[in-house]
Amino acid sequence: MKVLVINCGSSSLKYQVLDMKNESVLVIGLIERIGIEGSVLKQERNGCDKYILETPMKTHKEAIGHVLKTIIDPVNGVLNSMDEIAAVGHRVVHAGEKYSGSVLINEDVMAALDECTELAPLHNPPNILGIRACQELMPNTPMVGVFDTAFHQTMPKEAYIYAIPYEYYEKYGVRRYGFHGTSHRFVSERAALLLGKSVQDTKVITCHLGNGASVAAIDGGKCMDTSMGFTPLEGLVMGTRSGDIDPAIISFIKEKEGLTVNEVTNILNKKSGVLGISGISSDFRDIEDAAKGGNERAQLALDVFALKVKSYIGAYLAELNGADAIVFTAGVGENGIEARMSICSNLEHIGIKMDAVRNKVRGKETEISAEDSAIKVFLIPTNEELVIARDTVEIVGKS
Ligand code: AMP
Repeated sequence: MKVLVINCGSSSLKYQVLDMKNESVLVIGLIERIGIEGSVLKQERNGCDKYILETPMKTHKEAIGHVLKTIIDPVNGVLNSMDEIAAVGHRVVHAGEKYSGSVLINEDVMAALDECTELAPLHNPPNILGIRACQELMPNTPMVGVFDTAFHQTMPKEAYIYAIPYEYYEKYGVRRYGFHGTSHRFVSERAALLLGKSVQDTKVITCHLGNGASVAAIDGGKCMDTSMGFTPLEGLVMGTRSGDIDPAIISFIKEKEGLTVNEVTNILNKKSGVLGISGISSDFRDIEDAAKGGNERAQLALDVFALKVKSYIGAYLAELNGADAIVFTAGVGENGIEARMSICSNLEHIGIKMDAVRNKVRGKETEISAEDSAIKVFLIPTNEELVIARDTVEIVGKS
């Protein structure tokens, strides 16, 4: 069974075709600048063979049309015909409280996702456009929605209710939702495997540290708490997002700088985080280089980032009453040797002891803690597309 996985952003679209017989990736592609001058499709086949198509793509439908043409192209494609695609799995950011797992997409699901647009105004509209375009171009192919928020729906109420008037939850759904759920789920299941335990008997703290970053506390395969909240702005210090701040800062800066609330929110989303502190970049590689060159604010950005992750690990160890493993994943988690070391330094008293030699590794599933560390530390590359494809196969198989 071959599955097409689609992840639609506002002006970009990532896709993969997987052969689920052996879970191999047949093709990986990325379209950038949809609706903007300079649209481009870049595709890799068998991990190497690169193909680039530069042509105007004004809408998501046009972009998906090019994806479908490219994957069945006799020269650059991997399929003989579109009929080989048994199903399409779509990444969707927000499903609110409606879905705690992946679902076969029908008009009821589309209506629920439309309702959630208010909660994720930047993310859900392009996700919905991607589904609609696929439905038009492949009307007989089943589509499955896999939601970033779904895995976190198991959180107990005390973890997701904010201490603001309760009616805002009841009237508007203001609560913690959490994001990156597909990634937290994947790496926590891998961690159980590495521990040689069943998921049900495992407690894990998963650190998804990419440009966006979040931590999750997972007990028996169920998310108990996570650092992102009502929106992906809460929690850790990120590439450009502030993470947790005193909410009173918003009105203070608004007054001082003569800005609107929207402008301040934009600054917290796009100009804060390690970019805001360092003034250099949102990319950890640039900041690490600058810090090595003696730039104090770059070093400060790295220190603030690491302290925040450490403090969430501490909080979640308390919430879970201990853990079997800490997992690092995503861009910084998989590649940031120094970041991981800094986060896990001086935690021996709570049972976390790193091995500096084992930790000198990037992008490979492995243990990076010392042999005698009571809590294991793992590097586990995430694979959200594989989860989407697996869920798609399972749900289409049941339907
Ligand atoms: P993601 O959002 O998961 O794609 O992660 C992207 C981020 O990973 C980039 O912004 C970088 O900050 C970080 N990253 C990628 N490679 C490295 C590396 N070799 N060392 C440190 N950070 C890295």
